[in-house]
Amino acid sequence: MGKGSGYDVIVVGVGAMGSSACYHLARRGASVLGLERFDIPHALGSSHGYSRMIRMAYYEHPDYVPLLRRAYELWRELEGASGQQLLFEVGGVYMGPPDGHVVAGATRAARQHGLEHETLSNAALAERFPQFRLPPQFVGVYEPRAGFLLPEKVIAAQAELALRAGAELRGREEVTHWGADEGGVVVRTPKGEYRGDRLLFCGGPWTSKLVSDLGVELVVTRQVLGWVWPRAPEAFALGTFPVWGIEAADGSLSYGFPMIPDCPGLKVARHGRGPVTDPDAVSREATPADEAEVNDILLRHLPGGAGPLLSMRVCLYTNSSDGHFIIDSHPRHARVLLACGFSGHGFKFASVIGEVLADLALNGKTELPVRFLGLERFGIRT
Ligand SMILES: Cc1cc2nc3c(=O)[nH]c(=O)nc-3n(C[C@H](O)[C@H](O)[C@H](O)COP(=O)(O)OP(=O)(O)OC[C@H]3O[C@@H](n4cnc5c(N)ncnc54)[C@H](O)[C@@H]3O)c2cc1C
Repeated sequence: MGKGSGYDVIVVGVGAMGSSACYHLARRGASVLGLERFDIPHALGSSHGYSRMIRMAYYEHPDYVPLLRRAYELWRELEGASGQQLLFEVGGVYMGPPDGHVVAGATRAARQHGLEHETLSNAALAERFPQFRLPPQFVGVYEPRAGFLLPEKVIAAQAELALRAGAELRGREEVTHWGADEGGVVVRTPKGEYRGDRLLFCGGPWTSKLVSDLGVELVVTRQVLGWVWPRAPEAFALGTFPVWGIEAADGSLSYGFPMIPDCPGLKVARHGRGPVTDPDAVSREATPADEAEVNDILLRHLPGGAGPLLSMRVCLYTNSSDGHFIIDSHPRHARVLLACGFSGHGFKFASVIGEVLADLALNGKTELPVRFLGLERFGIRT
């Protein structure tokens, strides 16, 4: 096949992870081609909806914390390079039963990694955050460094900085075929054929369609976000209200954000697997049932937030079987790398994932601790 006069790295998908990878590769002087089937950015994948939560006391697993430390550093660097605020550290509070996976998991991660946090009793929660209505047995963990990122602005900034550093990005150009051998990689789109040394798949919900021989199942689910105008808006203002999550009886998490100007209203959602879907056939219209879910979260936990609905968005999760990310080379093609299966919690890591992918593509290894995200955990050797 041969690299020929091709690129050092071809990146498929210029969403959250792909735009970050393009930026990190280009700033190191690599020749990069990023191919995106839709616009850069767009609202048809996993990275739209004006806010994404970032937190460090990671209840999902403490092994993510070192990556998060680096992610925060890189978010601040990205702000410096792009000249705009992208990360808002407004504080975050995670609530649930004391032995539930959210409170116990966040506490474990915070203690293991010496993170600044406070344990709040039910009474302390009521005093400090009277906006919430909680069962009497619920307690909380408060983390001052938690907050949110602006996803569309992040992707735009990463893409622009990648372009300015010399990357070639092409929107509205879908990769339809690819191949790899010892000599190099090739991808085809309706507009042309491109050759390179390494291929990096950052296709989000479309990954299984692109890489059908991955050997692990990725389940795409339909998720909804809602915005309402609260009865008492001042209680949910930026600077007053934290990012928050409340564990539900089924293990899912109701969560939300303070009000931000990019999209008017108070945003709430549920983090848990929605209905299984196909990214090319998903219904992007919110239904009355979707609206009812938003209303239910408000009535149950944020009565002062309940109010007329303003907006809804449909978004996609790409779930791995254990809910953890997949960062590895392709099981049969050493030149091909994958970053997928972000399972509804990947955005906050996009900055560091781009750095990891640039390390792996250019040096074949990384100092960052990502082995726990490899395919080996599924019994697959790469
Ligand atoms: C409703 C919702 C809420 C979330 N909340 C949070 C949160 O609060 N905090 C958090 O950290 N994470 C959150 N997440 C998860 C996070 O947003 C995702 O993990 C992350 O955005 C995934 O990024 P990605 O690059 O894998 O996917 P995407 O950003 O979707 O990028 C994949 C890209 O690949 C492109 N592509 C696919 N196939 C092709 C092809 N054949 N040719 C060219 N291009 C192609 C797509 O068009 C797309 O642009 C949430 C996700 C959703 C849906």
